[in-house]
Amino acid sequence: MKTPDNNPATRRGLSINTLLILSVVIVSLVPISILGFKVYDAAWENAWREVREKHQSLAKNLAAPLFSYINDRHIALSLIATQLARHKSSNDKTNTKRILAEGLTQLNRFESMILLDAQYRIIDYASSYPIDTRQFPRLKLADSDFLDIAFKADNISLSPVVLNPLNNRTTIFIAIPVTTDDTGKPTQLLLGELKIAVIEAMRAGIHFGQHGHSAIVDQLGRVIAHPNPDWMNDYIKDLSKLSIVQAMMNGETGVTEFYSPFKKQDMVAGFTAVPQYGWGIMVPQPKVEVSAQVDRLLRAELTWALAGLSIALIVGFSLAGWITRPINQLARAGRRLQEKNYQSRLPETPSYAPREIQQLGEAFGGAVSNLINSREELNTLNRSLQQRIDAATTELREANSKLEQLTKIDHLTKLSNRRHLEDAMLQLASRRQGDSQTICLLLLDIDGFKTINDEYGHPAGDAVLMQIGNILQQSLRNTDIAARYAGDEFVVLLRTGLEAGRTRANQLRKDIEEHVFLYNGKELHTTVSIGLISCEINSQCNDIEDVLRRSDEAMYEAKRQGRNRVAEISQDIP
Ligand code: GH3
Ligand code: MG
Repeated sequence: MKTPDNNPATRRGLSINTLLILSVVIVSLVPISILGFKVYDAAWENAWREVREKHQSLAKNLAAPLFSYINDRHIALSLIATQLARHKSSNDKTNTKRILAEGLTQLNRFESMILLDAQYRIIDYASSYPIDTRQFPRLKLADSDFLDIAFKADNISLSPVVLNPLNNRTTIFIAIPVTTDDTGKPTQLLLGELKIAVIEAMRAGIHFGQHGHSAIVDQLGRVIAHPNPDWMNDYIKDLSKLSIVQAMMNGETGVTEFYSPFKKQDMVAGFTAVPQYGWGIMVPQPKVEVSAQVDRLLRAELTWALAGLSIALIVGFSLAGWITRPINQLARAGRRLQEKNYQSRLPETPSYAPREIQQLGEAFGGAVSNLINSREELNTLNRSLQQRIDAATTELREANSKLEQLTKIDHLTKLSNRRHLEDAMLQLASRRQGDSQTICLLLLDIDGFKTINDEYGHPAGDAVLMQIGNILQQSLRNTDIAARYAGDEFVVLLRTGLEAGRTRANQLRKDIEEHVFLYNGKELHTTVSIGLISCEINSQCNDIEDVLRRSDEAMYEAKRQGRNRVAEISQDIP
């Protein structure tokens, strides 16, 4: 039969502790997690909406003044061009110089104003920086066909960001063809160099967040204004590969995410385009700043969740302890009972334990005390049963011993009976070799016993038998045995040699002859005839039947010789 597994450590199934703690943790975490997820989601959506609205409005806010800035320069350049056209005598150097200088200083809208002929030779200029016309007889913009396009254009053209060869700095020109003769065809090109510093100042005023910035790119995606000065002064920074710049170049407005090579991190940016000029404006902000607020919320949520979890664990552990401690006590007590340790006291279920467990404890306690009481009753019963069994065993032993005695003793004379005599003789015959000794066997038969019975009655015969028994008994030594062999026949086994046996036999015969048998106030007399044989233990005495038969023969011999005598049979019989 399979024995049940009593080891609590190897038993399957979850403990109440684990179940309770798991449930409390699940109950506390699931709603917090769902709520947290919803709040987190909503917070992200909020943050995005805010970013979208603010970034976009900032970009648009910058687009408007930029548009008016360029537009204003357009008007100014048109005015100057008109003035120059009015003075058709282009040879009037003084006039040209004056108009350009006035345009530069009075309007203060350009970095420089340069008038080129059809071969782009510098006719005249006014500039905030020195220009060596001998070094630059001809204006040539590297990697740009702006001058060709502007010369052929009907109206004002806006250059992309170009490197100004006159001072080696990045700049933007606006240009307008000037007609100085009557053909109506343009003969000159008037360039106005925009003040990048002014655009940069406008840009610098716009930023968002702690590490946010803004940037302005031209129609080719090249940097006009940017917080990184290295990208603005003497080097053209092309950002046209950035997706956000491409979107602006397409005239789009919106919010997007991109990786900023300048900030070297992911950015979220509002962007817009100045459609008339193809410029793009973006207001990027590190994405981490946007997410920081949401992260703060997430951290707060996590803190609350952790606090909730801690409280849930404390509650779970307390609850589990409250329920399982008394149950465990009962289980331990049960195991002790199972180990048959009935001495240990059953723990009392604490009063703080749940009511059901208290009831369980009481029921268990009741069952255990019943068990212990029954066990004690059983022990008492067992003890009394054992005592009775012991007493009965003693009685039985005594009865057996009595019975055994009875099987050995002749009830009338109290001498050994024939069976006991034969057993004793067998024992003697089975003695170890070398323990050689002579024994004598006397067979006594009462002479004329029938007459006593006949004359005085059977009880008188019995009395004679008993008194002869006494006489024999008193004549015995330690190792001798006297037995009633049959009706009026007795055998005496003497552990003596033949001579001593002969003496003892004669003494017995004489004692009986002289004895006065008293019965019912009458004096009776009788004699016995004795057959005597002697033999050696371990040799002649081994055949018991033969020994008895020969002693019987000897006794008959005594009868034949006239009774009241001892007769012997010689030993040479095999
Ligand atoms: P003998 O000299 O030839 O021995 O003559 P006897 O009369 O003794 O003859 P025997 O030994 O043959 O007779 C034995 C008698 O003993 C016969 C029997 O009635 C009697 N007897 C046997 N057992 C008992 C007994 O227990 N009590 C009494 N009273 N008589 C017994
Ligand atoms: Mg007889």
